[in-house]
Amino acid sequence: MRVTGRLAPSPTGAQHVGNARTYLIAWLAARSRGGRVVLRIEDIDTWRNKPGAAEQALEDLRWLGLDWDDEPWVQLQRLPVYRSALEELKARNRVYPCTCTRSDILAAASAPHAADLGGPVYPGTCAHRTPADANRLDRPFAWRFRASEPPAFTDLYCGEIHVAPALAGGDFVVWRNDDMPAYQLAVVVDDAAQGITEVVRGDDLIPSTPRQLMLYQALGLTPPRFAHVPMVVGPDGKRLAKRHGDTRLSQLRDSGVSPQSLVGLLAWSCGWQTDDRPVSPSALLSLFQWASIPSQPFVLTEERVAGLLP
Ligand code: GLU
Repeated sequence: MRVTGRLAPSPTGAQHVGNARTYLIAWLAARSRGGRVVLRIEDIDTWRNKPGAAEQALEDLRWLGLDWDDEPWVQLQRLPVYRSALEELKARNRVYPCTCTRSDILAAASAPHAADLGGPVYPGTCAHRTPADANRLDRPFAWRFRASEPPAFTDLYCGEIHVAPALAGGDFVVWRNDDMPAYQLAVVVDDAAQGITEVVRGDDLIPSTPRQLMLYQALGLTPPRFAHVPMVVGPDGKRLAKRHGDTRLSQLRDSGVSPQSLVGLLAWSCGWQTDDRPVSPSALLSLFQWASIPSQPFVLTEERVAGLLP
């Protein structure tokens, strides 16, 4: 089967150097084997969307020298498709309506919080309900998936991964109480529909993968392979943020940084070249390999950013 990878920006803000590194790896992983790359705008968390950020993300990707096949998909244009996946989960009795508020869940939870997944393991308060009970509810409700033990998986980059139930366990929301799909459902439906064979993304999303694997199984879909790559962090070891200085790609571009300088730095950080000399993504196609990418996060210092300036 032909390799198909994807770039899946969220238009929730500007794309920065950390995003660029993951996109470069994802693009090279597919293109270096003659694979396809598709693009998808993940905009269903509408309250987080920033005007113009989707167009900006496409411009940033093109500036970097990355390309894609087909027209970009936009999640907000695909709501009926996600809804029919929800209907299928209802028909298979894999979801139940949940009226718990965030504070109900916090009050009932004994497990530690899994910050990346937006809360503690769900204590099962509404798990006695069936899909038909939804008709009798007079409050807003979410649809929660009846989860199993988080399945282990073999990551293309990290190897065997077992996510602890305290992090990925518990029934999770697939349809939000504002009547919109949740990330976990939309991403699975789209990765399957776009024929993605390899998902390359930041390792902050590892706890989501067992959940997504459960959804593939429940929907009778074939899962892709996953590769979770280390993030870019600031000198304090924390995920790249504003306090680490301006690493937005649009800002670098406006300051006269050439995309080849940035790609050169990223290529060096991935061990594909011995120094950070400027290079284009297509010149890296024959040099791409997983094995040389360090397992530690890449520390982006201000000096390294300054070194990109003309
Ligand atoms: N849209 C997500 C992001 O920009 C990526 C989700 C995924 O790769 O599954 O962080």
